[in-house]
Order: sequence, then C-alpha cells, then structure tokens
Amino acid sequence: MVLALAGCATSVTREPANLFPHKQELRAYVESGDYRREIAAVAARAQAWVEQRAKAGGAKLTVVFDLDETLLDNWAYLSAMDFGYVHREWDLWVEEARAPAHEPVREIFRAARRLGIEVVFLTGRPERARVATEKNLRAIGCGDFAVLICRPDEERGTQASFKAAARGGLVAAGRTIIANLGDQASDLSGGFAERTFKLPNPFYLSQ
Ligand SMILES: [Mg+2]
Repeated sequence: MVLALAGCATSVTREPANLFPHKQELRAYVESGDYRREIAAVAARAQAWVEQRAKAGGAKLTVVFDLDETLLDNWAYLSAMDFGYVHREWDLWVEEARAPAHEPVREIFRAARRLGIEVVFLTGRPERARVATEKNLRAIGCGDFAVLICRPDEERGTQASFKAAARGGLVAAGRTIIANLGDQASDLSGGFAERTFKLPNPFYLSQ
C-alpha cells in the first residue's frame, strides 16, 4: 500500500516532455511540405463536395469558412514568434493585413463563387479587427463574400458556442450551409452544416 502510494506520487511529479523538440517537429511538419499537402488533400475533398452538391441546387447555398489557418496562412507570424501568442504582436500582424491565402482553400472559394454559391466568413477575430480583416481578404482576391461574421468584442462564451450560434442564425435566415471548413474542432462542432472539413493545425487550440 505504501509502495503504491509512493508510485503514485512519482508519476504526478514526472517531468513533462521538453518543448524544444516538439517545436522542431512542428517546423519540420511545415518545412517538409507535409502541412500544406495535408491542407491540399482536405481542400480537394471539400471542393469536390461543393461542386457535386451545387448540382442538386437548393435555397441560398452557402459555404462557411473560418479564416485563420483555414483561408489565411499565418505561418510567417507563428514562425517569427516561435509559436508564442503575444496579444499585442498578434494584433499588429492582423493590422498589417498581409497574411497570404492557403491556395487550395482559396480555390474552394473561387469554385463556390463560379457556381453562384455564396460565401460566409465566420471568424473568432474580434469586431475591432473587421476593417483590417476585410483589407486582407481583398488583398488575396477573396473580397467577393456575402457576410463576414466577427466575434463581438464583448462576447465571453467559447468559440464553439459563438460559431454554432452564428451558423444557426444563417440557417434561420434561409441559408443552406453545404460545407463548413475550419482548422479547429470548435469551428465545426454544433451542427448547421451538411458537411464539415477539418484542416490540420498542430500549432494552437481555440476552444
Ligand atoms: Mg482558424
């Protein structure tokens, strides 16, 4: 009994895995091309679905996209900050409005618009970042969207509940969300979409 308790105490104080090799693993994932290949594979499935689903038609067909690490590629920021989140630095990066697009995800946007399907961007970025975000979207050729939903500055709930409620509102307004794309589980949980597509993101977690 005493031995078992001692074993228990030892396991509780075990040293966690070192952060440095994990950061190296993340860099290798991006720099090897695996990260962007995985994005391309998910995006190809999503685009095929959108093109197939468009043929069946329906009321106000809509595709919902998350922005950061879905359509917008913030690797330059993540890498420069060595994966740290520094509120002020992140805000400056957003204000610069120069995040490039993840190309295969932008292709879904273009395919949807060619097919007459509307696009809604649903982001956890706060309302105060709207102007810079719209500027960034125009800069990557994605200015032709129906709605950009930002998180109200005073919103205190989880990302998941905010986003599910927003999609519920879109459906209540008569839209049919045929596809919802995001890099976080919290982008996709809670329903209101015919299909969900999860892009990789081992860099951070938004709940
Ligand atoms: Mg995201």
